Amino acid sequence: MEKKCIVCNVTNQQAPLILLDYQNNEYYICPQHLPVLIHHPEELMGSLPGAENFKAG
Ligand SMILES: [Zn+2]
Repeated sequence: MEKKCIVCNVTNQQAPLILLDYQNNEYYICPQHLPVLIHHPEELMGSLPGAENFKAG
């Protein structure tokens, strides 16, 4: 699997990517979109299965 941000598809040649170890799969996200994962995971629906359930409460 190519290493690129699940949101913007930037590659690890263009930006440092953060590895997400999730459901035995590896996903990558760039620093610019890490806050989206933290604060608005529902916006990652379609990129990460079940992302809409990440937020507690
Ligand atoms: Zn990104």
